[in-house]
Amino acid sequence: MSEIIRLSASELGERIAAGDISSVEATRAHLDRIAAVDGAVHAFLHVDGERALATASELDRRRAAGEPFGPLAGVPIAIKDVLVTEGMPSTAGSRILEGWIPPYDATPVRRVREAGLVPLGKTNMDEFAMGSSTEHSAYGPTHNPWDLDRIPGGSGGGSAASVAAFEAPLALGSDTGGSIRQPAHVTGTVGVKPTYGGVSRYGSIALASSLDQIGPVTRTVLDAALLHDVIGGHDPLDSTSIPEAWPSMAEAVRRADVAGLRIGVVKQLDAEGFQRGVRTRFHEALELLERNGAEIVEVDAPHFEYAIAAYYLILPAEASSNLAKFDSVRFGLRVTPDGGGTVEQVMAATREAGFGPEVKRRIILGTYALSAGYYDAYYGSAQKVRTLVQRDFDAAFANVDVLATPTAPTTAFKLGEKLDDPMSMYLNDVATIPANLAGVPGISVPAGLAPEDGLPVGIQFLAPARQDARLYNVGAALEQLLLAEWGRPLLDLAPDLSRHELTATEEGAL
Ligand code: GLN
Repeated sequence: MSEIIRLSASELGERIAAGDISSVEATRAHLDRIAAVDGAVHAFLHVDGERALATASELDRRRAAGEPFGPLAGVPIAIKDVLVTEGMPSTAGSRILEGWIPPYDATPVRRVREAGLVPLGKTNMDEFAMGSSTEHSAYGPTHNPWDLDRIPGGSGGGSAASVAAFEAPLALGSDTGGSIRQPAHVTGTVGVKPTYGGVSRYGSIALASSLDQIGPVTRTVLDAALLHDVIGGHDPLDSTSIPEAWPSMAEAVRRADVAGLRIGVVKQLDAEGFQRGVRTRFHEALELLERNGAEIVEVDAPHFEYAIAAYYLILPAEASSNLAKFDSVRFGLRVTPDGGGTVEQVMAATREAGFGPEVKRRIILGTYALSAGYYDAYYGSAQKVRTLVQRDFDAAFANVDVLATPTAPTTAFKLGEKLDDPMSMYLNDVATIPANLAGVPGISVPAGLAPEDGLPVGIQFLAPARQDARLYNVGAALEQLLLAEWGRPLLDLAPDLSRHELTATEEGAL
Protein backbone atom coordinates (compact mmCIF):
# COMPACT_ATOMS: atom_id res chain seq x y z
CA MET A 1 0.00 0.00 0.00
CA SER A 2 1.37 3.43 -0.92
CA GLU A 3 2.62 5.40 2.08
CA ILE A 4 0.77 8.48 0.81
CA ILE A 5 -2.67 7.06 1.53
CA ARG A 6 -1.76 6.26 5.16
CA LEU A 7 -1.12 9.95 5.89
CA SER A 8 -3.78 11.96 7.65
CA ALA A 9 -5.25 14.81 5.62
CA SER A 10 -3.40 17.40 7.67
CA GLU A 11 -0.06 15.62 7.17
CA LEU A 12 -0.77 15.20 3.49
CA GLY A 13 -1.73 18.88 3.21
CA GLU A 14 1.53 19.89 4.87
CA ARG A 15 3.60 17.70 2.57
CA ILE A 16 1.78 19.08 -0.48
CA ALA A 17 2.25 22.67 0.70
CA ALA A 18 5.96 21.97 1.26
CA GLY A 19 6.29 20.60 -2.26
CA ASP A 20 7.22 17.13 -0.96
CA ILE A 21 4.30 15.40 -2.59
CA SER A 22 2.31 16.84 -5.49
CA SER A 23 -1.47 16.95 -5.45
CA VAL A 24 -1.40 14.82 -8.60
CA GLU A 25 0.63 12.14 -6.79
CA ALA A 26 -1.73 12.25 -3.81
CA THR A 27 -4.77 12.04 -6.05
CA ARG A 28 -3.32 9.23 -8.13
CA ALA A 29 -2.41 7.23 -5.00
CA HIS A 30 -6.02 7.40 -3.82
CA LEU A 31 -7.44 6.60 -7.26
CA ASP A 32 -5.13 3.55 -7.37
CA ARG A 33 -6.35 2.47 -3.97
CA ILE A 34 -9.97 2.87 -5.11
CA ALA A 35 -9.23 0.76 -8.17
CA ALA A 36 -7.63 -1.90 -5.96
CA VAL A 37 -10.16 -2.23 -3.15
CA ASP A 38 -13.47 -0.61 -4.08
CA GLY A 39 -14.66 -3.70 -5.90
CA ALA A 40 -14.79 -5.29 -2.45
CA VAL A 41 -15.77 -2.25 -0.34
CA HIS A 42 -18.14 -0.47 -2.76
CA ALA A 43 -17.80 2.86 -1.01
CA PHE A 44 -18.18 4.83 -4.24
CA LEU A 45 -21.11 5.21 -6.62
CA HIS A 46 -19.15 7.38 -8.97
CA VAL A 47 -15.45 8.17 -9.36
CA ASP A 48 -14.25 10.93 -11.67
CA GLY A 49 -10.52 10.26 -11.88
CA GLU A 50 -9.95 12.41 -14.93
CA ARG A 51 -11.50 15.51 -13.44
CA ALA A 52 -9.78 14.88 -10.09
CA LEU A 53 -6.37 14.66 -11.77
CA ALA A 54 -7.08 17.79 -13.82
CA THR A 55 -8.04 19.67 -10.64
CA ALA A 56 -4.93 18.36 -8.87
CA SER A 57 -2.61 19.38 -11.65
CA GLU A 58 -4.12 22.87 -11.75
CA LEU A 59 -3.52 23.10 -7.98
CA ASP A 60 0.08 21.97 -8.41
CA ARG A 61 0.53 24.70 -10.99
CA ARG A 62 -0.91 27.31 -8.63
CA ARG A 63 1.28 26.15 -5.75
CA ALA A 64 4.35 26.30 -7.98
CA ALA A 65 3.35 29.86 -8.93
CA GLY A 66 3.45 30.77 -5.25
CA GLU A 67 -0.30 31.21 -4.71
CA PRO A 68 -1.40 30.96 -1.07
CA PHE A 69 -2.21 27.40 -0.08
CA GLY A 70 -4.62 26.44 2.72
CA PRO A 71 -3.98 23.49 5.07
CA LEU A 72 -6.06 21.05 3.00
CA ALA A 73 -5.24 22.37 -0.47
CA GLY A 74 -4.36 19.59 -2.88
CA VAL A 75 -5.87 16.89 -0.60
CA PRO A 76 -8.43 14.49 -2.11
CA ILE A 77 -11.91 14.17 -0.64
CA ALA A 78 -14.92 11.87 -1.10
CA ILE A 79 -18.41 13.37 -1.18
CA LYS A 80 -21.61 11.72 -0.01
CA ASP A 81 -24.00 11.41 -2.92
CA VAL A 82 -26.62 13.44 -1.02
CA LEU A 83 -24.72 16.62 -1.97
CA VAL A 84 -25.26 17.91 -5.46
CA THR A 85 -22.16 18.32 -7.56
CA GLU A 86 -21.98 20.34 -10.75
CA GLY A 87 -21.38 18.07 -13.74
CA MET A 88 -21.20 14.93 -11.60
CA PRO A 89 -24.06 12.46 -11.01
CA SER A 90 -25.92 12.97 -7.74
CA THR A 91 -28.40 10.24 -6.93
CA ALA A 92 -28.79 10.22 -3.13
CA GLY A 93 -28.62 6.44 -3.53
CA SER A 94 -31.92 6.39 -5.44
CA ARG A 95 -32.97 5.10 -8.84
CA ILE A 96 -35.28 8.06 -9.19
CA LEU A 97 -32.27 10.37 -9.64
CA GLU A 98 -30.32 8.04 -11.91
CA GLY A 99 -28.89 9.97 -14.83
CA TRP A 100 -29.49 13.40 -13.30
CA ILE A 101 -26.49 15.74 -13.56
CA PRO A 102 -26.88 18.80 -11.31
CA PRO A 103 -26.10 22.21 -12.79
CA TYR A 104 -24.52 23.55 -9.56
CA ASP A 105 -22.47 22.63 -6.48
CA ALA A 106 -23.90 22.39 -2.97
CA THR A 107 -22.35 25.09 -0.77
CA PRO A 108 -20.15 22.63 1.21
CA VAL A 109 -18.89 21.23 -2.10
CA ARG A 110 -18.22 24.70 -3.48
CA ARG A 111 -16.31 25.53 -0.31
CA VAL A 112 -14.13 22.42 -0.46
CA ARG A 113 -13.33 23.20 -4.08
CA GLU A 114 -12.48 26.80 -3.20
CA ALA A 115 -10.21 25.57 -0.40
CA GLY A 116 -8.31 23.55 -3.02
CA LEU A 117 -9.53 20.09 -2.07
CA VAL A 118 -9.84 17.56 -4.86
CA PRO A 119 -13.19 15.73 -5.11
CA LEU A 120 -12.60 12.10 -6.10
CA GLY A 121 -16.24 11.10 -6.52
CA LYS A 122 -19.52 10.37 -4.80
CA THR A 123 -20.05 7.87 -1.99
CA ASN A 124 -22.73 5.28 -1.48
CA MET A 125 -25.58 5.81 0.95
CA ASP A 126 -28.97 4.52 1.99
CA GLU A 127 -31.58 5.84 -0.42
CA PHE A 128 -32.30 9.48 0.49
CA ALA A 129 -30.25 8.90 3.66
CA MET A 130 -32.89 6.63 5.18
CA GLY A 131 -31.16 3.83 7.04
CA SER A 132 -28.36 2.75 9.32
CA SER A 133 -26.55 0.21 7.15
CA THR A 134 -26.27 1.48 3.53
CA GLU A 135 -28.28 -1.59 2.55
CA HIS A 136 -31.13 0.63 1.40
CA SER A 137 -28.98 2.03 -1.40
CA ALA A 138 -30.54 1.28 -4.78
CA TYR A 139 -27.02 0.48 -5.99
CA GLY A 140 -26.11 -2.30 -3.57
CA PRO A 141 -24.56 -2.09 -0.10
CA THR A 142 -21.17 -0.84 1.01
CA HIS A 143 -19.03 -3.31 2.98
CA ASN A 144 -17.29 -2.52 6.25
CA PRO A 145 -13.49 -2.54 5.68
CA TRP A 146 -13.05 -4.22 9.11
CA ASP A 147 -15.15 -7.19 8.00
CA LEU A 148 -16.60 -7.23 4.52
CA ASP A 149 -19.62 -9.26 5.67
CA ARG A 150 -20.69 -6.46 7.97
CA ILE A 151 -22.45 -3.14 7.51
CA PRO A 152 -20.42 0.08 7.36
CA GLY A 153 -23.22 1.97 9.12
CA GLY A 154 -25.64 4.30 7.47
CA SER A 155 -26.85 6.23 5.89
CA GLY A 156 -23.34 7.49 5.13
CA GLY A 157 -21.64 4.09 5.03
CA GLY A 158 -19.86 4.93 1.78
CA SER A 159 -18.18 8.04 3.19
CA ALA A 160 -17.06 6.26 6.37
CA ALA A 161 -15.88 3.14 4.52
CA SER A 162 -13.94 5.19 1.97
CA VAL A 163 -12.02 6.89 4.77
CA ALA A 164 -11.54 3.68 6.82
CA ALA A 165 -10.31 1.82 3.70
CA PHE A 166 -7.79 4.60 2.89
CA GLU A 167 -9.56 5.35 -0.40
CA ALA A 168 -9.88 8.98 0.70
CA PRO A 169 -8.34 10.84 3.62
CA LEU A 170 -11.52 12.89 4.14
CA ALA A 171 -15.19 12.70 3.29
CA LEU A 172 -18.34 14.75 3.60
CA GLY A 173 -21.45 13.22 5.14
CA SER A 174 -24.93 14.22 6.23
CA ASP A 175 -26.47 13.52 9.61
CA THR A 176 -30.23 13.64 10.14
CA GLY A 177 -30.41 11.08 12.93
CA GLY A 178 -26.85 9.79 13.15
CA SER A 179 -25.71 9.13 9.58
CA ILE A 180 -22.27 10.61 10.14
CA ARG A 181 -21.69 9.48 13.73
CA GLN A 182 -22.98 5.88 13.59
CA PRO A 183 -20.93 4.98 10.46
CA ALA A 184 -17.89 6.54 12.20
CA HIS A 185 -18.58 4.34 15.25
CA VAL A 186 -18.67 1.08 13.26
CA THR A 187 -15.67 1.88 11.03
CA GLY A 188 -13.19 3.31 13.56
CA THR A 189 -13.32 6.81 12.06
CA VAL A 190 -14.18 10.29 13.34
CA GLY A 191 -17.53 11.83 12.43
CA VAL A 192 -19.03 15.19 13.36
CA LYS A 193 -22.57 16.48 13.19
CA PRO A 194 -22.24 20.27 13.54
CA THR A 195 -24.76 22.53 15.29
CA TYR A 196 -27.93 22.87 13.22
CA GLY A 197 -27.29 25.90 11.03
CA GLY A 198 -23.51 25.67 11.40
CA VAL A 199 -22.91 24.25 7.93
CA SER A 200 -25.00 25.21 4.92
CA ARG A 201 -27.61 22.73 3.70
CA TYR A 202 -27.83 24.48 0.31
CA GLY A 203 -27.54 21.77 -2.32
CA SER A 204 -28.01 18.92 0.11
CA ILE A 205 -30.83 16.71 -1.18
CA ALA A 206 -33.18 17.18 1.76
CA LEU A 207 -34.32 14.30 3.93
CA ALA A 208 -35.81 16.13 6.93
CA SER A 209 -35.01 19.83 6.74
CA SER A 210 -35.30 20.55 10.47
CA LEU A 211 -32.83 17.75 11.30
CA ASP A 212 -30.30 17.56 8.42
CA GLN A 213 -26.71 18.75 8.88
CA ILE A 214 -23.63 18.29 6.70
CA GLY A 215 -20.36 17.39 8.41
CA PRO A 216 -16.89 15.83 8.20
CA VAL A 217 -15.85 12.16 8.23
CA THR A 218 -12.12 11.64 8.81
CA ARG A 219 -9.44 9.52 10.46
CA THR A 220 -8.30 12.15 12.98
CA VAL A 221 -10.01 14.82 15.03
CA LEU A 222 -7.70 17.50 13.61
CA ASP A 223 -8.71 16.53 10.08
CA ALA A 224 -12.38 16.84 11.01
CA ALA A 225 -11.72 20.27 12.53
CA LEU A 226 -9.83 21.50 9.45
CA LEU A 227 -12.64 20.32 7.18
CA HIS A 228 -15.28 21.82 9.49
CA ASP A 229 -13.47 25.16 9.26
CA VAL A 230 -13.65 24.91 5.45
CA ILE A 231 -17.34 24.02 5.10
CA GLY A 232 -18.78 25.89 8.09
CA GLY A 233 -19.99 29.44 8.48
CA HIS A 234 -22.82 31.58 7.25
CA ASP A 235 -24.40 31.01 3.86
CA PRO A 236 -27.09 33.41 2.66
CA LEU A 237 -28.43 30.62 0.43
CA ASP A 238 -29.60 28.63 3.47
CA SER A 239 -32.22 30.51 5.51
CA THR A 240 -31.42 28.42 8.60
CA SER A 241 -27.69 29.20 8.43
CA ILE A 242 -26.39 30.91 11.59
CA PRO A 243 -25.11 34.37 10.66
CA GLU A 244 -22.47 34.84 13.39
CA ALA A 245 -18.79 34.04 12.94
CA TRP A 246 -17.42 30.78 14.39
CA PRO A 247 -14.19 30.14 16.25
CA SER A 248 -11.61 27.94 14.54
CA MET A 249 -12.22 24.26 15.30
CA ALA A 250 -8.60 23.46 14.41
CA GLU A 251 -7.48 25.87 17.16
CA ALA A 252 -9.63 23.96 19.66
CA VAL A 253 -7.82 20.77 18.64
CA ARG A 254 -4.38 22.32 19.02
CA ARG A 255 -5.22 23.55 22.53
CA ALA A 256 -6.95 20.32 23.58
CA ASP A 257 -7.09 19.92 27.36
CA VAL A 258 -9.73 18.33 29.54
CA ALA A 259 -8.55 19.58 32.93
CA GLY A 260 -11.63 20.77 34.80
CA LEU A 261 -14.01 19.77 32.01
CA ARG A 262 -17.34 18.50 33.34
CA ILE A 263 -18.58 15.51 31.35
CA GLY A 264 -22.13 14.26 31.91
CA VAL A 265 -22.88 10.59 31.29
CA VAL A 266 -26.46 10.20 30.14
CA LYS A 267 -28.00 7.57 32.43
CA GLN A 268 -30.57 6.49 29.85
CA LEU A 269 -27.85 5.77 27.26
CA ASP A 270 -25.54 3.79 29.50
CA ALA A 271 -27.95 0.95 29.84
CA GLU A 272 -28.46 -2.78 29.72
CA GLY A 273 -29.49 -3.00 26.07
CA PHE A 274 -26.03 -1.88 24.89
CA GLN A 275 -23.47 -4.49 23.82
CA ARG A 276 -21.09 -5.34 26.65
CA GLY A 277 -17.88 -4.45 24.78
CA VAL A 278 -19.34 -1.13 23.66
CA ARG A 279 -19.95 -0.20 27.29
CA THR A 280 -16.54 -1.52 28.36
CA ARG A 281 -14.70 0.74 25.94
CA PHE A 282 -17.01 3.64 26.77
CA HIS A 283 -16.24 3.39 30.49
CA GLU A 284 -12.52 2.94 29.91
CA ALA A 285 -12.48 6.11 27.82
CA LEU A 286 -14.30 8.00 30.55
CA GLU A 287 -11.85 6.75 33.19
CA LEU A 288 -8.95 7.87 31.02
CA LEU A 289 -10.44 11.34 30.73
CA GLU A 290 -11.07 11.40 34.47
CA ARG A 291 -7.46 10.46 35.24
CA ASN A 292 -6.47 13.43 33.10
CA GLY A 293 -8.49 15.98 34.98
CA ALA A 294 -12.05 15.71 33.65
CA GLU A 295 -14.91 15.39 36.08
CA ILE A 296 -17.47 12.70 35.26
CA VAL A 297 -21.02 13.12 36.55
CA GLU A 298 -24.22 11.22 35.88
CA VAL A 299 -26.95 13.11 34.05
CA ASP A 300 -30.63 12.28 33.78
CA ALA A 301 -32.35 12.84 30.43
CA PRO A 302 -35.77 11.29 31.05
CA HIS A 303 -37.24 12.14 27.66
CA PHE A 304 -34.44 10.65 25.56
CA GLU A 305 -36.28 7.33 25.62
CA TYR A 306 -39.08 8.91 23.56
CA ALA A 307 -36.70 10.49 21.06
CA ILE A 308 -36.79 7.64 18.54
CA ALA A 309 -40.59 7.57 18.53
CA ALA A 310 -40.76 11.32 17.97
CA TYR A 311 -38.05 11.23 15.31
CA TYR A 312 -39.77 8.49 13.33
CA LEU A 313 -42.85 10.71 13.05
CA ILE A 314 -41.10 14.03 12.40
CA LEU A 315 -38.65 12.57 9.89
CA PRO A 316 -41.21 10.77 7.70
CA ALA A 317 -43.49 13.81 7.83
CA GLU A 318 -40.76 16.13 6.56
CA ALA A 319 -39.41 13.52 4.15
CA SER A 320 -42.80 12.87 2.56
CA SER A 321 -43.06 16.57 1.84
CA ASN A 322 -39.45 16.96 0.63
CA LEU A 323 -39.73 13.96 -1.69
CA ALA A 324 -42.87 15.29 -3.36
CA LYS A 325 -40.60 17.15 -5.78
CA PHE A 326 -39.62 13.86 -7.44
CA ASP A 327 -42.54 14.04 -9.79
CA SER A 328 -41.07 12.62 -13.03
CA VAL A 329 -41.00 16.11 -14.57
CA ARG A 330 -38.05 17.88 -13.01
CA PHE A 331 -35.34 15.35 -12.18
CA GLY A 332 -33.97 12.02 -13.35
CA LEU A 333 -36.14 9.02 -14.04
CA ARG A 334 -39.40 9.11 -16.01
CA VAL A 335 -41.48 5.97 -16.47
CA THR A 336 -44.41 6.10 -18.87
CA PRO A 337 -46.96 3.31 -18.44
CA ASP A 338 -47.48 1.05 -21.46
CA GLY A 339 -49.65 2.86 -23.96
CA GLY A 340 -49.01 6.25 -22.33
CA GLY A 341 -50.86 7.88 -19.48
CA THR A 342 -51.91 11.08 -17.77
CA VAL A 343 -49.44 13.23 -15.84
CA GLU A 344 -50.65 11.57 -12.64
CA GLN A 345 -50.15 8.09 -14.08
CA VAL A 346 -46.63 8.91 -15.27
CA MET A 347 -45.85 10.35 -11.86
CA ALA A 348 -47.20 7.28 -10.07
CA ALA A 349 -45.35 4.86 -12.35
CA THR A 350 -42.11 6.83 -11.90
CA ARG A 351 -42.38 6.93 -8.12
CA GLU A 352 -43.35 3.26 -8.02
CA ALA A 353 -40.26 2.29 -10.04
CA GLY A 354 -37.89 4.93 -8.69
CA PHE A 355 -38.32 4.66 -4.91
CA GLY A 356 -37.22 1.64 -2.87
CA PRO A 357 -39.23 -0.01 -0.08
CA GLU A 358 -37.82 2.00 2.86
CA VAL A 359 -38.52 5.30 1.09
CA LYS A 360 -42.07 4.22 0.29
CA ARG A 361 -42.59 3.11 3.88
CA ARG A 362 -41.58 6.53 5.17
CA ILE A 363 -43.57 8.47 2.58
CA ILE A 364 -46.69 6.53 3.58
CA LEU A 365 -45.99 6.98 7.30
CA GLY A 366 -45.29 10.67 6.89
CA THR A 367 -48.30 11.37 4.72
CA TYR A 368 -50.48 9.58 7.28
CA ALA A 369 -48.96 11.50 10.21
CA LEU A 370 -49.63 14.79 8.43
CA SER A 371 -53.19 13.99 7.33
CA ALA A 372 -55.84 16.33 8.71
CA GLY A 373 -57.44 13.87 11.12
CA TYR A 374 -54.19 12.68 12.68
CA TYR A 375 -51.95 15.73 12.55
CA ASP A 376 -52.37 16.68 16.22
CA ALA A 377 -52.28 13.12 17.50
CA TYR A 378 -49.02 12.24 15.74
CA TYR A 379 -47.03 15.14 14.33
CA GLY A 380 -48.23 17.54 17.03
CA SER A 381 -47.35 15.13 19.85
CA ALA A 382 -43.97 14.37 18.31
CA GLN A 383 -43.15 18.07 18.23
CA LYS A 384 -44.02 18.32 21.92
CA VAL A 385 -41.68 15.43 22.70
CA ARG A 386 -39.03 17.22 20.68
CA THR A 387 -39.38 20.22 23.00
CA LEU A 388 -39.05 17.96 26.05
CA VAL A 389 -35.84 16.45 24.64
CA GLN A 390 -34.51 19.97 24.07
CA ARG A 391 -35.33 20.82 27.70
CA ASP A 392 -33.45 17.71 28.88
CA PHE A 393 -30.40 19.05 27.04
CA ASP A 394 -30.87 22.53 28.54
CA ALA A 395 -31.10 21.09 32.05
CA ALA A 396 -28.06 18.87 31.49
CA PHE A 397 -25.91 21.65 30.04
CA ALA A 398 -26.71 23.85 33.03
CA ASN A 399 -24.46 21.45 34.99
CA VAL A 400 -21.96 19.99 32.54
CA ASP A 401 -19.83 21.20 29.62
CA VAL A 402 -20.39 18.18 27.38
CA LEU A 403 -22.36 14.94 27.47
CA ALA A 404 -20.94 11.50 26.69
CA THR A 405 -22.67 8.35 25.41
CA PRO A 406 -21.70 5.29 23.42
CA THR A 407 -22.34 6.35 19.80
CA ALA A 408 -24.51 3.32 19.04
CA PRO A 409 -25.70 0.27 20.98
CA THR A 410 -23.70 -2.37 19.10
CA THR A 411 -20.69 -2.83 16.85
CA ALA A 412 -21.23 -3.42 13.11
CA PHE A 413 -23.88 -6.06 12.53
CA LYS A 414 -23.92 -8.51 9.64
CA LEU A 415 -25.22 -7.41 6.24
CA GLY A 416 -28.77 -8.68 5.94
CA GLU A 417 -29.25 -9.10 9.68
CA LYS A 418 -31.71 -6.23 10.16
CA LEU A 419 -32.81 -5.57 6.62
CA ASP A 420 -36.27 -7.09 7.06
CA ASP A 421 -36.80 -5.65 10.50
CA PRO A 422 -37.18 -1.86 10.27
CA MET A 423 -37.81 -1.47 14.01
CA SER A 424 -34.51 -3.05 15.00
CA MET A 425 -32.75 -0.97 12.32
CA TYR A 426 -34.32 2.19 13.79
CA LEU A 427 -33.20 1.29 17.31
CA ASN A 428 -29.60 1.75 16.20
CA ASP A 429 -30.14 5.48 16.33
CA VAL A 430 -31.11 5.64 19.99
CA ALA A 431 -28.00 7.55 21.05
CA THR A 432 -27.59 9.80 18.03
CA ILE A 433 -31.14 11.04 17.38
CA PRO A 434 -31.54 13.30 20.46
CA ALA A 435 -28.84 15.67 19.11
CA ASN A 436 -30.71 16.13 15.81
CA LEU A 437 -34.00 16.78 17.59
CA ALA A 438 -32.34 19.49 19.66
CA GLY A 439 -30.02 20.89 16.97
CA VAL A 440 -26.94 20.38 19.16
CA PRO A 441 -23.56 19.22 17.80
CA GLY A 442 -22.06 15.76 18.29
CA ILE A 443 -18.81 13.94 17.53
CA SER A 444 -17.98 10.24 17.44
CA VAL A 445 -14.36 9.35 18.20
CA PRO A 446 -12.87 5.81 18.09
CA ALA A 447 -12.68 4.34 21.60
CA GLY A 448 -11.15 0.96 20.72
CA LEU A 449 -12.30 -2.49 19.67
CA ALA A 450 -15.00 -4.47 21.44
CA PRO A 451 -13.23 -7.42 23.13
CA GLU A 452 -15.89 -9.95 22.11
CA ASP A 453 -15.79 -9.33 18.35
CA GLY A 454 -12.73 -7.17 17.66
CA LEU A 455 -14.83 -4.51 15.92
CA PRO A 456 -14.58 -0.72 16.38
CA VAL A 457 -16.50 1.18 19.03
CA GLY A 458 -17.06 4.93 19.12
CA ILE A 459 -17.69 7.30 21.98
CA GLN A 460 -20.01 10.22 21.34
CA PHE A 461 -19.70 13.66 22.88
CA LEU A 462 -22.49 16.24 22.64
CA ALA A 463 -22.23 19.97 23.35
CA PRO A 464 -24.66 22.89 23.56
CA ALA A 465 -25.65 24.51 20.27
CA ARG A 466 -22.83 26.66 18.83
CA GLN A 467 -20.25 25.08 21.17
CA ASP A 468 -18.88 22.72 18.52
CA ALA A 469 -15.35 23.72 19.55
CA ARG A 470 -15.87 21.89 22.85
CA LEU A 471 -16.32 18.65 20.93
CA TYR A 472 -13.03 19.14 19.14
CA ASN A 473 -11.35 19.88 22.44
CA VAL A 474 -12.54 16.76 24.24
CA GLY A 475 -12.35 14.57 21.12
CA ALA A 476 -8.74 15.55 20.41
CA ALA A 477 -7.75 15.13 24.05
CA LEU A 478 -9.17 11.62 24.14
CA GLU A 479 -7.61 10.76 20.80
CA GLN A 480 -4.16 11.79 22.08
CA LEU A 481 -4.55 9.84 25.31
CA LEU A 482 -5.70 6.71 23.49
CA LEU A 483 -2.94 7.00 20.91
CA ALA A 484 -0.39 7.11 23.73
CA GLU A 485 -1.96 3.96 25.16
CA TRP A 486 -2.29 2.03 21.90
CA GLY A 487 0.98 3.18 20.36
CA ARG A 488 -0.65 3.44 16.93
CA PRO A 489 -3.93 4.57 15.39
CA LEU A 490 -6.82 2.13 15.63
CA LEU A 491 -7.12 1.84 11.85
CA ASP A 492 -3.64 0.30 11.71
CA LEU A 493 -5.32 -2.79 13.15
CA ALA A 494 -7.88 -3.03 10.33
CA PRO A 495 -7.41 -5.94 7.94
CA ASP A 496 -5.18 -5.39 4.96
CA LEU A 497 -7.65 -5.10 2.14
CA SER A 498 -5.04 -5.72 -0.51
CA ARG A 499 -5.81 -9.42 -0.18
CA HIS A 500 -9.23 -8.45 -1.50
CA GLU A 501 -7.88 -7.01 -4.68
CA LEU A 502 -10.40 -8.78 -6.81
CA THR A 503 -10.24 -10.64 -10.02
CA ALA A 504 -13.00 -9.87 -12.48
CA THR A 505 -14.84 -13.09 -11.65
CA GLU A 506 -14.83 -12.45 -7.93
CA GLU A 507 -16.08 -8.94 -8.57
CA GLY A 508 -18.95 -10.29 -10.61
CA ALA A 509 -19.90 -12.53 -7.72
CA LEU A 510 -20.27 -9.68 -5.25
N1 GLN B 1 -30.62 5.98 10.59
C1 GLN B 1 -31.40 7.18 10.63
C2 GLN B 1 -32.57 7.08 9.69
O1 GLN B 1 -32.72 6.07 9.10
C3 GLN B 1 -30.52 8.36 10.37
C4 GLN B 1 -30.49 8.81 8.98
C5 GLN B 1 -29.62 10.00 8.75
O2 GLN B 1 -28.99 10.53 9.67
N2 GLN B 1 -29.64 10.46 7.52
O3 GLN B 1 -33.34 7.96 9.55
